[in-house]
Amino acid sequence: MKHANDIMSKKEKLKKLILRQNSGLILRKLEALNREIRNCKKCPLWKLRKDTVPGEGPINAKIMVIGMAPGRIEDKTGRPFIGPAGKLLDQLFKIAEIKREKIFITSSLKCLPQPPINRKPKKEEIKACLPYLEKQIEIINPQKFILLGEIAFSTFFPKKELSSFRGKWVKKDGKKFFITYHPAAGLRFPKIKKTLEKDFKKIRRIISF
Ligand code: URA
Ligand code: SF4
Repeated sequence: MKHANDIMSKKEKLKKLILRQNSGLILRKLEALNREIRNCKKCPLWKLRKDTVPGEGPINAKIMVIGMAPGRIEDKTGRPFIGPAGKLLDQLFKIAEIKREKIFITSSLKCLPQPPINRKPKKEEIKACLPYLEKQIEIINPQKFILLGEIAFSTFFPKKELSSFRGKWVKKDGKKFFITYHPAAGLRFPKIKKTLEKDFKKIRRIISF
């Protein structure tokens, strides 16, 4: 019996070792990608940025939230969704009973669109930046996505109307996407804020803690 226990514990130890090595590898890949983003000059947004905002979250996140682009405060700090739109997003996470620290949060663009500050991203900028998001998805491999607003939506569902998908889970390439508005729009329009709250109620407890 003791022998069987020894074998089990050896197996468990090996499993833990492999898991640790895997997370080490994922972490190194993400760090290398972040370095690449930090040095990126693939579109003109690098010239005026204070910092890049690659995104943040655990490397084994099961959910990825994708917004549009960093705002002024994100550009200053290098962290995603910590300005006014981020505050609303935090409230929405609360409604959905999602813990922010359990999910990976990023945006389609990794630099602040300017001048003027916070302008809409240009098609060429989105195209230039897309490989970074694709690489993040490949490395982290989340099974579920929450797409915030038109820019994130059209990245995955080009030529489709956001309004016909909003508030729904959509399957694509074996992954699930929940589509809703961007919280920045919710700050400007109370009706959109209400819809956002309704949508986040729908995705309550999508991962168990
Ligand atoms: N809006 C976004 O889309 N991303 C951020 O990080 C902040 C605001
Ligand atoms: Fe590079 Fe993206 Fe920043 Fe443009 S927005 S400079 S492509 S990281």
